[in-house]
Amino acid sequence: MSPDLIRYKFIEKFGRVEYKEFVLSLYEAFPLRDRLFFWQEQLIEKIFNDLNIPQPTIGEVYSVFNYCPIHDVKLNADIVPIIDGNKLGWALSYREKKKHFPMANVNAPRDLDRFKYPENVEILYCSICREQRLLNMPFPDTIK
Ligand SMILES: [Zn+2]
Repeated sequence: MSPDLIRYKFIEKFGRVEYKEFVLSLYEAFPLRDRLFFWQEQLIEKIFNDLNIPQPTIGEVYSVFNYCPIHDVKLNADIVPIIDGNKLGWALSYREKKKHFPMANVNAPRDLDRFKYPENVEILYCSICREQRLLNMPFPDTIK
């Protein structure tokens, strides 16, 4: 069965809001998680049962839902710098960012005060989210 049809059935059954929540949570962690949360598993189980097809592996879930839930374009891979999440300019941008370009992923904020990380990490991003981010927020995420 085509990934397009599976995504369509997901939206038809659970609605756009749930779909957006599901996809954003699926791709919020980098590196990608190697298993689903229980609530994600339940949604997947229902959809695949409805479609009468075998339950997918986690890799198959990622390849089916590999689209920006806002702009509906396929996600691309990139390598981005890990930045200090404790210095983010949250107040100004966080809500707008999550609403309009949640998958820009131009960097990966982490808690650098408490943990050590490599300099870069591979992420997935949406090209339209990145365009929107540039138009709406042409300044860096971090405050000095
Ligand atoms: Zn997007």
